[in-house]
Amino acid sequence: MSEEERSLNFIEHIVEDDLKDGYAKKDLRFRFPPEPNGYLHIGHASSICLNFGLGLRYKAPVNLRFDDTNPAKEEREYVEAIKADVEWLGYSWDTECYASDYFEQLYNWAVELIKKGKAYVDSQTSEEIADQKGTPTEAGKESPFRNRSVEENLNLFEAMKNGEFKEGEHVLRAKIDMGSSNMLMRDPIMYRILHKAHHRTNTDWCIYPMYDWTHGESDYIEQVSHSLCTLEFLPHRELYDWFLDQLVDSKKLRPKQREFARRNLSHTVVSKRKLLKLVENGNVSGWDDPRMPTISGLRRRGYTPESIRNFADTIGIAKRENVVDVSLLEFHVREHLNKIAPRVMVVLNPLKVVITNYTEGDEEWLDAENNPEDPSAGSRKVPFSRELYIEKEDFREEANRKFFRLKLGGEVRLKNGYIIKAESCTKDEEGNIVEVQCTYDPKSRSGSGTEESLRKVKGTLHWVSIPHATAAEVRLYDRLFNDPTPDGHKDKDFMEFVNPNSLQKVTGFLEPSLKDAEPGDRFQFQRLGYFNVDSDSSSENMVFNRTVTLRDTWAKLEQKN
Ligand code: ATP
Ligand code: MG
Repeated sequence: MSEEERSLNFIEHIVEDDLKDGYAKKDLRFRFPPEPNGYLHIGHASSICLNFGLGLRYKAPVNLRFDDTNPAKEEREYVEAIKADVEWLGYSWDTECYASDYFEQLYNWAVELIKKGKAYVDSQTSEEIADQKGTPTEAGKESPFRNRSVEENLNLFEAMKNGEFKEGEHVLRAKIDMGSSNMLMRDPIMYRILHKAHHRTNTDWCIYPMYDWTHGESDYIEQVSHSLCTLEFLPHRELYDWFLDQLVDSKKLRPKQREFARRNLSHTVVSKRKLLKLVENGNVSGWDDPRMPTISGLRRRGYTPESIRNFADTIGIAKRENVVDVSLLEFHVREHLNKIAPRVMVVLNPLKVVITNYTEGDEEWLDAENNPEDPSAGSRKVPFSRELYIEKEDFREEANRKFFRLKLGGEVRLKNGYIIKAESCTKDEEGNIVEVQCTYDPKSRSGSGTEESLRKVKGTLHWVSIPHATAAEVRLYDRLFNDPTPDGHKDKDFMEFVNPNSLQKVTGFLEPSLKDAEPGDRFQFQRLGYFNVDSDSSSENMVFNRTVTLRDTWAKLEQKN
């Protein structure tokens, strides 16, 4: 077996087997079929990467199909957001399709089914219909309207279409088998009356087809060869096939449905319905809040399309559901940003340092390497002066030998600059340290001699020059939920696990090179993590998001417990 064959996932094996069985490669066609009732999330990314990945592997077209059969929940805004997200992930679709474009064809096929005695209008209430459904072990009961004449059915169905009835008065049902062991085969509903405007067909229709009736038929119309969906549709496959049996032309390609496991991510929820609740409830600022597991939230947070694709590739496709740890997603973004993000110095929790032997009013511009992982990224200049900020946590009056940062009498190197020594410090009335007085060694400047001639000290700190620094808002994020599986509790609602402290806003002091940064630009704030410029940013008020910390501090915390 070649390396390539070994890496095939089970869906690709299904396709390979079909090709071996004589299926023509040119007949392969795939689709990604979102319902436009919310923004795409990280779970969808798996499905997108699977379907578009198959398209790339087999040079086959992939449609973007909007499964828009429910006018009550679907909106144009979602359609646009979904398109933007798929494009941003780096994929291009062959045709942009809408199930709503097939309403006429679906209606005509439904009429054919009625004529063949395979569908009927049921005039019971939804409660009555539900009562007759039976249980998995007990057959359902046939509707008293099940044996209406074809003519009566045709007339009623047309009147339904013409808006002559109120919602709930009638439905169209497939006439299959109320005794089937598969409850979905017990005369499933094909159409219901909804007097609601649709985002594309407006008020042209007041009957809308159900998902099961629409999906397979849309696949057939588009001649999709492999219709891949998540496992919850496994029991629907029998119905998918039954509907196709009624209308497939043997000269045309017959789509097949195959299932793979839904992907779940720890510490969050991946369900549009639940994410909508967070938006509506105001727990987040919107679908693209950087804490959201949506593609647009991850984008705004600073994730790269490459990191999401690599994550999806690594977790692959599974036959059984499981929860993937969010730290794996973070690992991938860290790995990519390490290669591409320029390093800069920003101080988030400032402590003033005065270099007492540096002349007041003097300044110098030091060379700073932009990215040690990428020499082609070049270098920039950072200003040094008598007054600097370092992080509060980086200074202690006294500390043991393992504290490699600054302590009284001790030395550290300032990144890209000099070695300094802490001589004394000043405190406020409450005893908080407000200033550290240091001296610097003028002969120790980074890059001023050969590596050997430079004196070495254990610790290196990031810093900024106070007179040159600009202030910006920096948003630090914690998990949106403080439970690994917020929607995995039988007795508790996922909303109970929302972390009230998932957003912290602080003021950061930036080195001057950052003043030209644009929304979306990504950086490594040295020792603090990866950050990007948020879309809320303006020239007066820059806003940064922390995409991810430098190390997986979370995994470590959890290990300790
Ligand atoms: P949600 O519950 O979030 O609304 P959905 O399955 O109803 O999800 P759709 O818009 O119907 O959302 O999904 C489009 C495609 O993406 C479907 O083929 C669906 O199976 C797939 N998909 C949705 N969620 C996931 C997930 N968590 N993991 C993998 N694939 C998913
Ligand atoms: Mg859905």
